[in-house]
Amino acid sequence: MPLSKRIQSALLFAHLILYTIRHHLTILRRALTASLAHFFTGTPKHPVDPSEVQNVVVVGAAFAGYFAARILATTLPRDGRWRVVVVEPNSHFNFTWVLPRFCVLEGHEHKAFIPYVPEFFGDKVPVGMVQWVRDRVVRVGRESVVLRGGAEVKYKYLIVATGSTVRNGLPSRPGGEGREEGMELMRGLQLRIKNAQSIVVAGGGAAGVELASDAKFVFPEKRVTLVHSRQAVMHRFGPGLQTGAMEALQKLGVDVVLGEKVVSEGAEGEGFVTLSSGRTIECDCFINCTGQKPASGLVADVAPGAFAPSGHIRVKPTMQIADDSLPNVYVCGEVAETDATNPNSRIAARQAEVAADNVVRAARGQTPCYKYKNRFGDGAIKLTLGLDRSMVHFWDGKAEMVWHGDETDPAMMCDEAWTNIQAEPFVDTGVFRGQLADPRDLGAGGKAVEEMV
Ligand SMILES: Cc1cc2nc3c(=O)[nH]c(=O)nc-3n(C[C@H](O)[C@H](O)[C@H](O)COP(=O)(O)OP(=O)(O)OC[C@H]3O[C@@H](n4cnc5c(N)ncnc54)[C@H](O)[C@@H]3O)c2cc1C
Repeated sequence: MPLSKRIQSALLFAHLILYTIRHHLTILRRALTASLAHFFTGTPKHPVDPSEVQNVVVVGAAFAGYFAARILATTLPRDGRWRVVVVEPNSHFNFTWVLPRFCVLEGHEHKAFIPYVPEFFGDKVPVGMVQWVRDRVVRVGRESVVLRGGAEVKYKYLIVATGSTVRNGLPSRPGGEGREEGMELMRGLQLRIKNAQSIVVAGGGAAGVELASDAKFVFPEKRVTLVHSRQAVMHRFGPGLQTGAMEALQKLGVDVVLGEKVVSEGAEGEGFVTLSSGRTIECDCFINCTGQKPASGLVADVAPGAFAPSGHIRVKPTMQIADDSLPNVYVCGEVAETDATNPNSRIAARQAEVAADNVVRAARGQTPCYKYKNRFGDGAIKLTLGLDRSMVHFWDGKAEMVWHGDETDPAMMCDEAWTNIQAEPFVDTGVFRGQLADPRDLGAGGKAVEEMV
């Protein structure tokens, strides 16, 4: 390796260490500030009048919203005046990372649905401080949100963390709100792949590359074709990952077609797809891994000026929506437009930290001051390339670090994700078994925080 490359890699490695230190310092700073604040505030001797309780509403509970809700629950003042209301339609946390793998490999689909558990919020959170509403927000107003079920929930602060949506569902999102439905859809796709002779996968991003390589690994006798509109797979990442992924796909025997799009799937039974050049490819199982869009429609009425051309919601560095008339509305995760080039769950969680920390400051009467700035470590990715190998990639736009790894766990060590969010692998405890709230109890005049169970 030339000296300049070696120096760049050494600098990148130093950045990586700094990045990790910074992350731990942030956690320490938050824990210390909250402990001091809780120590001096103490807990109220008597329940606060319900009319004084204010809601911080979090819309969406995945990598951004769920993590924001935890920070709010553990660090908002414990004076009985604050309540965290989480609104999420999914019965379980959808663990996206494993979806392409489990769409191919049978018998693991239940592992992609992690139960939401009260333990995630810690045992020191006052009873009733977190209220869980299994519903979907259909409209955001200036002071309240409206739920699909018709109820209106007022907010003092709002965090929108609605992420991305995709029309086709799997393999990018399960395509249903319930665990059983999601597992059924996954089994359906597994069967289509198993019964197919010629599989065509559209989209050479992470989902498409992982699914195509897994399908060819598990079923080497089938023809698997990956069609990507750009001139390289994983085109948003550094050249080392692009080349490494391409080589691995070719080694597995996946046919890769670059610079083309699938423009039509062909009618049922015709057995081919048509590409933008007019070329047709034999296909009895087409899987679309493109078309993720930000789920931003909620704020269309209240902040039309905050829409970016990409459909994302524009935000300030504090993660407040880019609309000065809505200082109490925050947006984080994949739905937000920031300087992050390759969105992932680490970025979503970091933005959630900024949003939640700023809400807590505002609730304490301070000015929101924490800011999100993309750091190179945010964009790190682990890409699986068949069941037995992977690549880890760091890139800062100039230099990159690439590690090749051997993989031994077909379930991609997703038990760690369960443990990290305090769920016991792979025990399903059903829909959130904490304070499942009736939205009618969440308005002024509803029950006091200490009374709710
Ligand atoms: C196949 C695949 C593999 C991936 N692998 C990795 C990986 O290995 N590593 C990595 O770091 N990242 C990975 N990612 C990216 C990662 O999944 C996303 O960056 C992350 O999910 C973004 O989190 P989020 O909370 O912003 O949004 P989402 O995960 O999209 O979650 C949004 C949540 O909001 C809820 N919601 C939406 N609308 C409403 C509404 N109106 N009312 C209430 N709730 C609502 C949804 O139900 C959902 O729970 C992968 C993505 C895909 C698709």
